[in-house]
Amino acid sequence: MRGEKWVLGIDVGGTRIKSGLINDTGECRDFKSIPTAMDKEPSAVLSQLTDLIQDYQDNLPDIAGVGLALPGSVNDREGVCLYCPNLRWRDVPLSQKYSQAVDLPVRLLNDANAACLGEYFYGKNRNAQTLLCITLGTGVGSGLIFKRRLFVGSGSGMEAGHMVIDPNGPPCACGSKGCWETYVSANAVVRRCQGQMDAGLSTILKKWLQNGDSPLTAELIFKAYRLKDPLAQRIVLETKEYLALGLANLVNLFNLSVIVLTGGLAEAGPDLLEGLAEKMEPYTYPPLRGSVRLEYSILGPRAGVLGVASLWHKEMEWI
Ligand SMILES: [Zn+2]
Repeated sequence: MRGEKWVLGIDVGGTRIKSGLINDTGECRDFKSIPTAMDKEPSAVLSQLTDLIQDYQDNLPDIAGVGLALPGSVNDREGVCLYCPNLRWRDVPLSQKYSQAVDLPVRLLNDANAACLGEYFYGKNRNAQTLLCITLGTGVGSGLIFKRRLFVGSGSGMEAGHMVIDPNGPPCACGSKGCWETYVSANAVVRRCQGQMDAGLSTILKKWLQNGDSPLTAELIFKAYRLKDPLAQRIVLETKEYLALGLANLVNLFNLSVIVLTGGLAEAGPDLLEGLAEKMEPYTYPPLRGSVRLEYSILGPRAGVLGVASLWHKEMEWI
């Protein structure tokens, strides 16, 4: 590792924090995925990150810098996390805090933008002209490369997860109602399943939960779906419908040729992509029908870690 420039990439999700050391060829070492301390005060995650950075520093003293990918709006120039609803953070001066605590320069990026950069530089769609990356995790994020430039706006651009698809829908962490993420995030899928648990449909899922083998998770729902559990079937089909609706709206706006899905829900199984393109058709503007390719990221949980580290290794113009 001597002589090489290694950057610590950290992807902070509402459920897990993923991290790894990345060099300029996209090699990832010491990848870790730990649970996010979400059940405690919002500041607990800040301390968790300090400990994590220090652990890496103990093993590799000459880390060149840290890239932090966050589930919300950031201002990288000022080093401030503007707003992360799922972490309950607002106006947190992160770069200043960590530069002092760990004596390393820190750069910030939205997590879906990070996943999008990971895909663009190291994934299957390297150097694509236009690329949309959707992260389906605790919330829903979206990152867009448009004509080989990353679209960020003033730091809060491309918040596709907060497109309102039903003004009478469930409350969202952002304060609005019926945002797309209240239907298609991993949390939303679990919540919808929980809400229908007593409708008399479920068999396998109910049994698993009564046995106390596992809490209700998106992964468990997909496992039951594959075993043809009626409730899981209903929930997954509903999720595909909502996913198709939002994705088609984005195709109508940006004339996309490829959409890459990442995040916990995408990692739960291959089932989500089955028949999804067909479901998008009725919502898609006719000349654009059939024009988009849907796929999962081949980088899996490392997409965001690789992407945020690319801030140090690669050139990218932001618009
Ligand atoms: Zn929202």
